[in-house]
Amino acid sequence: MAALTPTAPGFVEKLVLYTDPSTCPTDALIPVPLADEPAFVSWQQDIPREYLNMSPEELDRRIAFARRQLGTRLAILGHHYQREEVIKYADFVGDSFKLAREAQQQKDLEFILFCGVHFMAESADVLTNEGVHVILPNMAAGCSMADMADPDDVYQAWDEIHEMLGEGASVVPVTYMNSAANLKAFVGERGGLVCTSSNAPRALAYAFEQAEKVLFFPDQHLGRNTGFGMGIPLDEMVLWNFRMPHGGTTPEALKKARVILWQGHCSTHQRFSVEQIEKARREYPDVKVIVHPECRWEVVQAADMNGSTEKISNAIHESPAGSVWAVGTEINLVNRLQVQNPDKKVFCLDPVICPCSTMYRIHPAYLAWVLEALLQGVVVNEVKVDAETRKWSLVALERMLALP
Ligand code: SF4
Repeated sequence: MAALTPTAPGFVEKLVLYTDPSTCPTDALIPVPLADEPAFVSWQQDIPREYLNMSPEELDRRIAFARRQLGTRLAILGHHYQREEVIKYADFVGDSFKLAREAQQQKDLEFILFCGVHFMAESADVLTNEGVHVILPNMAAGCSMADMADPDDVYQAWDEIHEMLGEGASVVPVTYMNSAANLKAFVGERGGLVCTSSNAPRALAYAFEQAEKVLFFPDQHLGRNTGFGMGIPLDEMVLWNFRMPHGGTTPEALKKARVILWQGHCSTHQRFSVEQIEKARREYPDVKVIVHPECRWEVVQAADMNGSTEKISNAIHESPAGSVWAVGTEINLVNRLQVQNPDKKVFCLDPVICPCSTMYRIHPAYLAWVLEALLQGVVVNEVKVDAETRKWSLVALERMLALP
C-alpha cells in the first residue's frame, strides 16, 4: 500500500487550534466538527481539508460505512479515556495493559487502529506480527507524561546514578507503559521491565529480585504510591530531577534510597487534590473515593481506594445500587461510568471538566480519514518501531506480560 504524505494535494498546511490552556470549558465534550472544536492543545496533525467541517452526523455515517467495509481486516482498540463518538467503534476497550494483551493476540488481520496515544500504538506494533500495520489516527496524540522522560536525559541519569553510587551499584530500571519504545528497549536491555498501573506492585517485586534499587520512570507518583504500598518508607524513595545536576540529589540520599523516582507526572491526574476529596466527603457522607495511582501521594492516601482504570471501572460496576462514587481520573471515563451505572451516583472529583488533552486529539474526523484512506488502499499514520528497538522493548514488554 502507498503511504500518504502531508504534502499531498488536499491537505491543509497546518491546523492550529488555540485556546487558553488554563480553562476547560464545560461544553467541551459536545461533538462538533473538527474546525469548531475548542481544542485543549496548540496544534493538531495536518488532515485533508474536506474533513475539517464535516458534521458529527456525517462523520459517524462515514466511519460506520468504512468500518463495515473493512470487516475482519481491521481491529479497533480504544482506551478508556477516548470520547464516546470514538469509543463506540472500538472492538476492544481497556486500559493500556488490557489493550497491550489484546494487541498481542491479533495475529491474522492487516490493521490495528489504535485509538489511544503514541506510546500505546508503538507497544501494539512491537507486540504484533511484522505484517500487522498499526495506525494512530492522529500522530499528534502523544502523552505529556511520556514526553517528560527524554531518552537522552534517562541515559545520562543512568550513568550519573552509577557514578554517584560507585562500585557495586545494583540498580534495575523499570518504565511505566507511558514511555517511548526506545526507553522500553533501554529497560529491556538492562534486565528491567515495563509496568502499567494494573501490575506496578508485581513489576516492582520482580525488579527487586534483580537488584537492590529501582530507577522508576517517568511517573514519580505511580512509583511513589506503588513503593509506599509495598511498605517502602517515603525517605527511602528519592526524586531524580532531570533538570538539575546529579538529579538534584546527593550520593548519600541515593545510597539510602530503594526507589529512584523520575520527576515526571500526568497533567490530568495532578489536578486532583485532598481538598476536593474533603469537599466530596462533606457533601456526600457515604461517598467512596477512588483515584488513579498517577495522582499525588497525599491524594491517594486520602482516598478510599486507588487503582488502574480497569480497577476503577470494575469497582463501580460491581458496587450496589445507590452507591456514591467520587472518582479521580479522566472525565470521559467518569462520564461513561455514570451513564453505564444509572442507579448510582458517579462524579469527577475535579469540578472543572478537563479531558486528557492528548487522548482528545483523536477526533472522529481523524478516524474517518484513516479508515477511508484504508478503503482506498492507502495506509496513513502507521506507527513502526525499528528492528533493534523492537527487539529489546519486546523483551521488556514480555517480562511484564509474564508477571504472575
Ligand atoms: S491521562 Fe496523563 S498519562 Fe494518560 S495519556 Fe493523558 S497525559 Fe498521558
